[in-house]
Amino acid sequence: MDDQMLCTAVDARRADLIGLAQGLIRIPTLNPPGLNYRQICDYLAARLVAAGFAVDLIRAHGAPGDSDAHPRWNLVARHYGSAPGDCVHFNSHHDVVEVGHGWTRDPFGGELDGDRIYGRGSCDMKGGLAASIIAAEAFIATCPDYRGSIEISATADEESGGYGGVAYLAEQGHFAHVTHAIIPEPLHKDRICLGHRGVWWAEVETLGRIAHGSMPFLGDSAIRHMGAVLAEIETTLYPLLAGRQSAMPVTPEGARQSTLNINSIHGGEPEPEPGYTGLPAPCVADRCRIILDRRFLIEEDLAAVKAELTALMERVKATRPTFRYEIRDLFEVHPVMTDRDAPVVRTVAAAIEKVLARQADYVVSPGTYDQKHIDRIGKLKNCIAYGPGLLHLAHQPDEWVGVQDMLDSAKVMALTLNELLGANQSG
Ligand SMILES: [Zn+2]
Repeated sequence: MDDQMLCTAVDARRADLIGLAQGLIRIPTLNPPGLNYRQICDYLAARLVAAGFAVDLIRAHGAPGDSDAHPRWNLVARHYGSAPGDCVHFNSHHDVVEVGHGWTRDPFGGELDGDRIYGRGSCDMKGGLAASIIAAEAFIATCPDYRGSIEISATADEESGGYGGVAYLAEQGHFAHVTHAIIPEPLHKDRICLGHRGVWWAEVETLGRIAHGSMPFLGDSAIRHMGAVLAEIETTLYPLLAGRQSAMPVTPEGARQSTLNINSIHGGEPEPEPGYTGLPAPCVADRCRIILDRRFLIEEDLAAVKAELTALMERVKATRPTFRYEIRDLFEVHPVMTDRDAPVVRTVAAAIEKVLARQADYVVSPGTYDQKHIDRIGKLKNCIAYGPGLLHLAHQPDEWVGVQDMLDSAKVMALTLNELLGANQSG
């Protein structure tokens, strides 16, 4: 099939693409708690069945967050060509994060203004989901006798770890037959995202002994112990991490090193209830906790990352006779990075050159997304993120996605399908 005919077929669907993106934005799939997941799956199912797809709705029974009040619904749609061949799978998450403050547009209005469609999830990533559907429909209409199969999934809970979404589907074997996976996250239309850094979240607690605040020498302050930990992090760990640079092309560049964020700190008596008007009680703090968010590189090993923190705590302990601490693992994700020579990478890069007349940029995401589950559980390495939208708009007030960006990405996706599944391709 001629690439130009495919691009024309995508352009002819401009109004349809806008309407589809608006329709998706107008279903508020807020996560947490996980609202309207069934509604958005039903909406997509109606459309994809009409386009000739076989559709499964799959509830992630028992997954974290799944309940009868907030069931974790996912959609998998399959379309088969006229001969055996590869399976190209587009995976989008259908959940969106909370609205937050500062909006000047209706967050669930799907308002079109010039080239922009506004709304929570427009950029991350209902615009990408709509673009992938339009690409598939345009390709199927133009090239009905293609080889292989096309799948479109819309999955739950990416914003909260993907356990009720892609992880569940991968555990059920839904990626076993997939040859190429594309996740239309908003990395932008000329960029191929190869993967992401690793994550380790840990809770660190220092332990002390409670006593009267007027006689602190009778107690042992967990907050002072934590102060020593924070000082050690500042003086030894941060400089060490800053010097640890990655060959991963992480964007933005500031994340091309190991990073550490201290998400929270709590010490001593609990925060008073809202509205409480009394004074606090005088006590020496016997507990202090911090939550650490450590992002690590493909060059680093998770066990070594953990051992580094334990060594730091032991250094503090050596200088403080009564120092006691505990470290609890909360969450971990290994880094993933698809090879630049992988078939899906080379094919999408060539399509970007054809559609945009420029070379693709290769990036790695500072944070994780569902590629981790496709890689680790689904065992599929031939996977990238590619889709329309500017990443810095994700989770922001007045989030928007550009219509032309969606159209251009849809063309790249359609040309990718043509290259991998087109009837005139050999082998
Ligand atoms: Zn996303």
